[in-house]
Amino acid sequence: MYDLILKGGRIYDGSGLPSFIGDVAIRDGRIEEIGRIHAAAEHVLDVEGLAVAPGIIDFHTHFDAQLWWDPLASTSHEHGVTTVVTGNCGLTLAPCKPESRDALIGTFVRVEAMPRASLQAGIPWKWSTHGEFLDALERKPLGLNVATLVGHCAVRQYAMGEASVEREANDAEIGEMEELVRQGMNAGAFGFSTNSNQSHYREDGKPVASRFAALDEIARLCRVVGESQRGLVQFTHGAFATPEHVAHISQWYDTILKETRRPLIGESIRHRWSEPDLWRRQLNDVEERCRQGYAAYAMTSTRPSMRRWTLKDSNRLDEISAWKNLMTMPPELRKEKFREPQTRAELAKATTQGKPINFSRRWDCISIKKTARPENQKLEGKNIEELARMQTKSAIDAFLDLALAEDLATTFEDSATQGDLHAVKEIFSSPHVLLGQSDAGAHVANGNPGFGYSTIMLAYWVRQRQIMSLEDAIKKLTFLPASLFGLRDRGLLRRGMAGDVVVFDPETIDLAEPEKVEDLPEGAPRYIQRAKGIHYTIVNGSVLLKNGAHSGVYPGKVLRSAEKT
Ligand SMILES: [Zn+2]
Repeated sequence: MYDLILKGGRIYDGSGLPSFIGDVAIRDGRIEEIGRIHAAAEHVLDVEGLAVAPGIIDFHTHFDAQLWWDPLASTSHEHGVTTVVTGNCGLTLAPCKPESRDALIGTFVRVEAMPRASLQAGIPWKWSTHGEFLDALERKPLGLNVATLVGHCAVRQYAMGEASVEREANDAEIGEMEELVRQGMNAGAFGFSTNSNQSHYREDGKPVASRFAALDEIARLCRVVGESQRGLVQFTHGAFATPEHVAHISQWYDTILKETRRPLIGESIRHRWSEPDLWRRQLNDVEERCRQGYAAYAMTSTRPSMRRWTLKDSNRLDEISAWKNLMTMPPELRKEKFREPQTRAELAKATTQGKPINFSRRWDCISIKKTARPENQKLEGKNIEELARMQTKSAIDAFLDLALAEDLATTFEDSATQGDLHAVKEIFSSPHVLLGQSDAGAHVANGNPGFGYSTIMLAYWVRQRQIMSLEDAIKKLTFLPASLFGLRDRGLLRRGMAGDVVVFDPETIDLAEPEKVEDLPEGAPRYIQRAKGIHYTIVNGSVLLKNGAHSGVYPGKVLRSAEKT
């Protein structure tokens, strides 16, 4: 008798091997059988026609605080996430001395844009060491599994107090920090995170503590991770600000990789119109480090920075002066001008010539998001180049004819990042790149919250844009992060693995529009984003989410890197 059988779904097991139809049986939180299963179970879910995959592993979150008041890490659980990794970017809430609580809160307030009042009211501070943080988390209900990293800023603050945001550490202080990292690793952390991002400050305007570390400190702290033979190092450095910063980052990379011989997740790679070749150079860097024998990895955000606009009132095209001149005219005059062949010729030329800043200057990168008239609805989703081809017109004529026919109310969409399909395909497909840089739990007041990076991947990039097979996408969202972090019994649907599963419809999975809710401690608002087409999220064999709603159980665990991987 099994606890749960998922019957007749198409199994994407996380390995990247071709999917197949079968049943999955789970008992005592673990997968016991995959294939054709005749045995009985307490619960049988008919999942025919649906995809059955390992639960999503969100390896870059800032849920360190949110988990204390929201054990579902909502809305991650609605997107099929079954494990979250906290403590990224050098920021953690442990270790922490009582007198430093306010300083640690200050880093989250500023770097991760979380409301101070919510953090003050919501964090119970029942710990001093990293191990005590894990113990305290273990005593409370959790919807999802949680794995942690030890954050450099917290370690530095613990060892040095306020001097941590003023100067380099001395030998004794580094010694104490080594011990704190060692304690964290021994308690079960999955690695160490550090941060040299030049735009990361605390609330009081001082740079975050890790930015003051000298190379020797980085070497000695990372060596502790190497000696533990577990986990990895996560290194946030932001954009290359100056030549000095480039040299500094490169020294940190070399030091971390040499001292640990563990995986390193660094570089954040994405395509930007303003620097269209930067991604290629970044990818080359990572590949070169791999050639040298290091386990260097980059990550990318699957979330394009979408912009929606109409020709009624948008400033989206303002970086092109020919457009800006027209868009600042009264609407009636603007429409008149849009009809003139002379103006159209000028706009056509101005649009595609010159160097992009935030706008692609490419017709194939502007798509029709929503039409205003029913007869045009069939055009939704097409890009302007496709529209022009269909109508055997020039792109500018197709674009303006449609907008004029709808009294300029047509909604167009384009993206400032990840807008070039060829670049995105290469970045996402690279074996050196992890998908997901969700920052979930952070930047909560932002209308583009970090939830749903995996849903965007499966809906937008796999189904609509077809840049990767579903098998490969699932592997990149599950097995790859599980392997690197050493979550050794997760990320695959195989006998003996944990029963972390997501069941979704590949044809309908999608992201809902962001919503503003007021559910933070002290009633502060935040943005959330829900999913469509996800039928079940199963954590350690228990159904956590059923057709979009929490089932009421809390099957999540605090994961510990106890054994060597
Ligand atoms: Zn982060």
